[in-house]
Amino acid sequence: MFVVMARTAGEAEILGVKSAILGEGLTPYDHAGVERVVIAVIGEIGARKADLIGRLGGLPGVETVTPISRPLKLTSREFHPENTAIRVLDTVIGDGSLTIMAGPCSVESRDQLFETADAVAAAGATILRGGAFKPRTSPYASQGLGVEALRYLAEARDRTGLPIITEVMEASQVDIVAEYADILQVGARNMQNYSLLRDVGRVARPVMLKRGFGATIEELLMAAEYIVSSGNPNVILCERGIRTFETYTRNTMDLAAVPLLHHLTHLPVIVDPSHATGKRWLVKPLAIGGVAVGADGVMVEVHPTPDQALSDAEQQLTLEQFRDLMETLGPVHDHVRGLHGDPQDRAAALGSVGVGGLSKH
Ligand code: PEP
Ligand code: MN
Repeated sequence: MFVVMARTAGEAEILGVKSAILGEGLTPYDHAGVERVVIAVIGEIGARKADLIGRLGGLPGVETVTPISRPLKLTSREFHPENTAIRVLDTVIGDGSLTIMAGPCSVESRDQLFETADAVAAAGATILRGGAFKPRTSPYASQGLGVEALRYLAEARDRTGLPIITEVMEASQVDIVAEYADILQVGARNMQNYSLLRDVGRVARPVMLKRGFGATIEELLMAAEYIVSSGNPNVILCERGIRTFETYTRNTMDLAAVPLLHHLTHLPVIVDPSHATGKRWLVKPLAIGGVAVGADGVMVEVHPTPDQALSDAEQQLTLEQFRDLMETLGPVHDHVRGLHGDPQDRAAALGSVGVGGLSKH
C-alpha cells in the first residue's frame, strides 16, 4: 500500500508515519515528489490490511492510504510520478534526450574496440557498449575476453569520454564489472536470476535490465523491483525482443512494451533492435520504430567488419551504417518529442492499462 502524505505534511509527520510502519514490522520507502511525499509500505501485510489502512490513515499529516492490487511498488508511477533520469558521467538517460548505446557485441581486441569507439563517438553515440563476459548459447562459442575486455573498455572511456556499459553474468563478477564499468547490464537470460538482481541492487552503478525473451512486462517490472528494493534506484529497462512463432527474425520486438512501460513505471526504457531482429538490415527500421513509440534510447551493435565478428555477425552494423542510422534517428526523435502526451498522467495510465491487465499477488 501507499501512504499519500498531505501537501502540508512536515518532516515530523513523515517520520511519524515511517516509524509507525517500522513498528508494524514493515519497511517504509519514501519518495518526495514534486507535489507531495508518498511512502510505500513493503512487506507481508496479509490479513492486517484493513486495520493497517485505518491505523496509518489516522496519523497526522496523512491524506490517504491507497491499497494497491498491482504487485509493482517502488517501480510504479503511482509511487513515483516523475520520470527517473539517470546521470552517468556527462550524459543523462531518461531526461527527454535520446540515449544511444553503441559498440560491438563482444570486445574482441583493443584495436577492434578503439576503432569502433572512435567511430560511434564521432557519430554521436552517448554510451559505449561491449561484451566482456558473453552469455553464449553454445559452450564452444567464444565466451568473451573477460577482465582483459573490461580494461580495454575503461581505456576506451578515457579516449572518448563515453560512459561504458557491459554485461555482468553472475554474482561473482559484480564487483569487478562495477569497478570498470559505468553501467552494469543484466542480460535477457539472467532477467529472473534473483540473487544476481539483489547483488546488482547493492552496487552504486546504474543497471540496465534486459527483458527475458520469455518474460511478460509484469515479470520484467518485478525483476526491476528486486534491484530497486535492494537499494539501487537507477534501473534502465530494455526491450530486446521476445520469442514468438515467427522465425524470420531472431526475436519479435514488442514495440507496445515501450509506451506501456512508460505508463506503468517511471524508469527509462531503451530498445535493442539488434538482438530483437538478428538482421543488420532490420536494425534501422526497428530503431526508428522504437524512437517513434517514445523510447528513451536505442542500443545498437556496431563492428568495423561485422562479417568477421566472433559473435552476432549477422546483426552488427558497419561503422558507415551506424553513421547513417544516427543521421536518421535525431530528426525522428525531435519530431516525436512532445507527441506522446504526459506519462505522468496517472489517470491515463491506470485507465488504459486497467487492473485486469496485471495479475494480483
Ligand atoms: C547483449 O546485449 O550483449 C546481449 C547478450 O543481449 P541479450 O541479453 O538481450 O541477449
Ligand atoms: Mn550480441
